[in-house]
Amino acid sequence: MTGPRLEIDLDKIGHNARTLVADSAAVGISITAVTKALLGLPALAVVMLEAGVVALGDSRIENIETMRAAGIEAPMVLIRSPMPSQIPRVVDSGVVSANSELEVLGLLSAQAVRRGIDHGVLLMVELGDLREGVMGDRLLGVVARVLALPCLELRGIGANLACRSGVVPDALNMGHLSDHADAIEARFGVEVAMISGGNSANLAWALGSRSRERSRINNLRLGESILLGREPLGRTPIDGLFTDTVTLVGEVIESIRKPLRPWGNRAQSAFGEPTGDDPTSDERTRRPAACNSGWQTIVAIGHQDTDPAGLCPAEGHQIIGASSDHLVLATERRMPPGAEMSFQPNYSALLRSATSPFVGLEVRSS
Ligand SMILES: *Cc1c(COP(=O)(O)O)cnc(C)c1O
Repeated sequence: MTGPRLEIDLDKIGHNARTLVADSAAVGISITAVTKALLGLPALAVVMLEAGVVALGDSRIENIETMRAAGIEAPMVLIRSPMPSQIPRVVDSGVVSANSELEVLGLLSAQAVRRGIDHGVLLMVELGDLREGVMGDRLLGVVARVLALPCLELRGIGANLACRSGVVPDALNMGHLSDHADAIEARFGVEVAMISGGNSANLAWALGSRSRERSRINNLRLGESILLGREPLGRTPIDGLFTDTVTLVGEVIESIRKPLRPWGNRAQSAFGEPTGDDPTSDERTRRPAACNSGWQTIVAIGHQDTDPAGLCPAEGHQIIGASSDHLVLATERRMPPGAEMSFQPNYSALLRSATSPFVGLEVRSS
């Protein structure tokens, strides 16, 4: 394979998934594995299902269709509200979809009726992060509508925190979600089967000891924690999980001794501020050895391939800048053109690399 590539260790990711499935099962929580960061890669989906997740979740109908086309028949959840223009595909794919808009629910119902199939609904509730979700004081009204619309089945309720505003899942907001489930059951005499509390940011609350008492949350949708072994609130490694699951590999195209400081009049660069620590503004004492060597190395990776700010190079090298197609590093020695350099991507860099048509994907086993 030539050009930049993502190397994915599915054995390590499988271990992460098995560990999180077991830890969550011990507290009564099932796992929906979120596949969007790898665009619904079927090999990943298979590993997740073997690890014991109850469903696959993805935000894009395209990724759901990729998995269905690969023969994966497991329960799937479209974790972003359907676009009105994609509703026929959503209904045909046999997913349960996350919803918060009455108009979209009406369109789903009409299409499900046309196709003569039932469509499952996970009703999202706003708990304060101010992204998707029905406002709590309107929830019972929306549930009444879902129950009245033909060919829609209320499968459960869900919430999503820590994504737009960084609101932390805790006993209070998770308690509110549990209370909403109670209220729906009391009012309508239906069972709210799935109560999906959130994403990887919920793990500290879910697996922490006391705060979960009497909670009705019985599902979490996990992506980053399985794929990268980290919790997203502070990006700290989760005990017992692998964090070295994915590597972005790129190729050196220039390595020349250059000064650290640019010369000439300066204005904006292509992407505003330089990426990474600007060694020109560092105090000499804190400057890494890599910068003192004078070797500036360019790897053929840029913003069009990844999020450069989310890359961590190997020890001894430092990223000092990036533009569309160039990743500029201070390296401790000359790196010959054609040499490969490896980087650990964070979630943002992984997502962008997996989505770039210029980056290959190589599945490896450890
Ligand atoms: C992406 C996403 C997830 C998974 O989030 P992670 O932090 O990667 O675990 C869960 N739910 C929704 C609605 C999402 O969009």
